[in-house]
Amino acid sequence: MTKTLAIGKQTETDLSALKDAFDPVEVTVPADISSLDDATRAAITAVAYKGSHAFGAEQMDLLPNLALLANYGVGFDTIDISAANARNIKVTNTPDVLNDDVADLAVAMAIMQRREMVQASDWVRSGKWAEKGAYRLNTKFSGGTVGIVGLGRIGRDIADRLAAFKMEIHYFSRSEKVTPGWTYHTDPVALAGAVDTLVVALVGGPETVNFVSAQVIDALGPKGVIINISRGTTIDEAAMLDALEQGRIAGAGLDVFLSEPEIDPRFYKLDNVVLQPHQASGTHATRAAMAKLQRDNIAAFHADEPLLTPVN
Ligand code: NAP
Repeated sequence: MTKTLAIGKQTETDLSALKDAFDPVEVTVPADISSLDDATRAAITAVAYKGSHAFGAEQMDLLPNLALLANYGVGFDTIDISAANARNIKVTNTPDVLNDDVADLAVAMAIMQRREMVQASDWVRSGKWAEKGAYRLNTKFSGGTVGIVGLGRIGRDIADRLAAFKMEIHYFSRSEKVTPGWTYHTDPVALAGAVDTLVVALVGGPETVNFVSAQVIDALGPKGVIINISRGTTIDEAAMLDALEQGRIAGAGLDVFLSEPEIDPRFYKLDNVVLQPHQASGTHATRAAMAKLQRDNIAAFHADEPLLTPVN
């Protein structure tokens, strides 16, 4: 008999749908796999994975018949793809269904930062509006220049939204894309030098660590704002914090951090950053769609049909 193993904290609805479909064995984190007995581990052929803990060779070797690792989320940087390939384990993710939410949050953070909406809200709540008068003038958002670092699925949706804000779009990708006249840069430093707002929409993982380097941050300059919805690893976070503290860039809007949820406390002291708790895809509708795509991949696997969204 083959079994599915559900790993992670599922919502009640998602867990109930997983139970209805696959009657899974359940654990909370990958480290718990070792607590399952040998027969149970040997029966497991598919994993429904949700979480931010690493899933690598050590966990895979505890499941000798594992053939599918279905990730909840488009980013699969927690999963060791080389280790999966070496063991003939297919990995799937949940792309596209979350593009709208993530792009919406990126644009919202950029507007919040430029228009100082958090501080302006505090101005109202604290009574300062009535006491001291109008809030200070801030920075126009529409009509600026933006650089998208990584014109993939989400980067493209962000660019489409920003084009509607009459922004001049520049981008970096590994290859030039078909666009409505957007400016392609092969060098992220040149991209940053050409724009006021830099939006990071790269994949995470070892290949993009510190892709937004100290040099890229310096090139963005004192009027520049960084928006990151990708992964904390894609930006040299210490260099960004230095630049934010010293006013060498104007600000940032960040949904992702190097150490989540215990982020670097230097962020808390900055009033030029909009901070979000890695919630870009966190709407009821999108999370339900992600869970359904994860289940559909597992169902396809058990039915010996082609996987919907394989990544290896
Ligand atoms: P995607 O379509 O695969 O796009 C990824 C982008 O990264 C592409 O532009 C790609 O370049 C670039 N890239 C990949 N490998 C690279 C490398 N080695 N060097 C430089 N650039 C590289 O992915 P997506 O669906 O847009 O998702 C992007 C990321 O967003 C995910 O991986 C995830 O980490 C993050 N995300 C975050 C949240 C959140 O809650 N904050 C939610 C969803 C996703 P090319 O254009 O040249 O292929």
